[in-house]
Amino acid sequence: SDHSLAYPRSPADMDWATLYPAYAVEGESQQASEAVEESTPADDEVQRKIKAISKNIEVADIGCGFGGLLFALAPKFPDTLILGMEIRTSVTEYVQEKTRALRAQNASTNGYQNVSCIRANTMKFLPNFFHKSQLSRIFLCFPDPHFKQRKHKARIVSYTLNSEYAYVLRPGGIVYTITDVQDLHEWMKEHFEKHPSFERVEKVFEEGEGEGGAGMDECVRVMRTETEEGKKVERNKGLKFVACFRRVEDPAWP
Ligand code: SAM
Repeated sequence: SDHSLAYPRSPADMDWATLYPAYAVEGESQQASEAVEESTPADDEVQRKIKAISKNIEVADIGCGFGGLLFALAPKFPDTLILGMEIRTSVTEYVQEKTRALRAQNASTNGYQNVSCIRANTMKFLPNFFHKSQLSRIFLCFPDPHFKQRKHKARIVSYTLNSEYAYVLRPGGIVYTITDVQDLHEWMKEHFEKHPSFERVEKVFEEGEGEGGAGMDECVRVMRTETEEGKKVERNKGLKFVACFRRVEDPAWP
């Protein structure tokens, strides 16, 4: 049950500095200055400054499980902050423990400082964690299929949840999905394609990310091979269905 889960009132209320200590700042960050604009009391302001980090999270792995994707992406996007979100307490703790160990092992290069994990039910209050248009990539890797019709409402792709993904994703940002369940693949495609804020990206392999950066094709490769579920499907020689969706600009109001 997630009754004991606490949610920040807004992204500025999260203690991001504890999650990404190498990026902690005492001066004003983007988040702190927004908090100040809301004319919060001075005490709050100081606390927020200490909690702040110098850059925003850009990549979210929703239902990250044991973190295979996170730990594979971290060295590929060394200057990008990546966050895993996982509902199971023990699994979240495992990922946090592994993050600490990898940071210690790679202290000389500051490796893995850009990756972290929190326990959260992502079906609730996602916009409390991220600002509008903050993220450039969202990963939905092997979501629980919830096969039965009456359980479909528990799926992490729905018209309502897609609106939340659209809110936190910047125009041009990408939602990556992968599953070994064809029915769920069709479901995700249907729900993203009919959502006005998304368009299907057919040719996922055509885009790069500039000089030496990991491109979209690389993200798809990592998602296929480095997730725990991806490895399991590989061992069982199962099929993997991939679909990516681009956040389009909001249509102009007449
Ligand atoms: N993404 C990982 C992978 O590809 O190996 C794990 C896939 S596993 C089948 C689905 C994960 O999503 C589980 O770890 C589960 O606890 C998590 N999960 C399910 N519902 C969630 C929710 N509402 N919020 C956060 N995590 C959730």
